[in-house]
Amino acid sequence: MAVPRFWREIPNRYNLVGARCGNCNKILFPPRSICPFCRRMGKLEPYRLKRKGKVFSYTVVHVAAEGFEDQVPYVLAIIELEDGPSLTAQITDCNPDEVKIGDEVEMVFRRMGEESQDGVIYYGFKGRLIKP
Ligand SMILES: [Zn+2]
Repeated sequence: MAVPRFWREIPNRYNLVGARCGNCNKILFPPRSICPFCRRMGKLEPYRLKRKGKVFSYTVVHVAAEGFEDQVPYVLAIIELEDGPSLTAQITDCNPDEVKIGDEVEMVFRRMGEESQDGVIYYGFKGRLIKP
């Protein structure tokens, strides 16, 4: 799981950062250099996304990817963020049968997997259900 250079250079990586297109005002995540909506370049600015969203769809993963063996079964969901973009993230701190489509989640910063060969532990965002 290589971390793209872009992410390492974000000053505060605890923020969920996307981009806003200065041309059509759409919010993009992950950030890109060309807006997929209006196809213009060069007007994209960093945008700090709200950490709330909803479960759009999900699957329960029983066979783990490398480094996730101690976490199965886990829920991998497409989360539609309040700001518009969707992202794929693990749902943390829940039993797989608790998750339903439409559930509200907040994005939390968590350890992503086991240490890699170079001893680095990767962190990233996961979704956590907001319980009523
Ligand atoms: Zn645009």
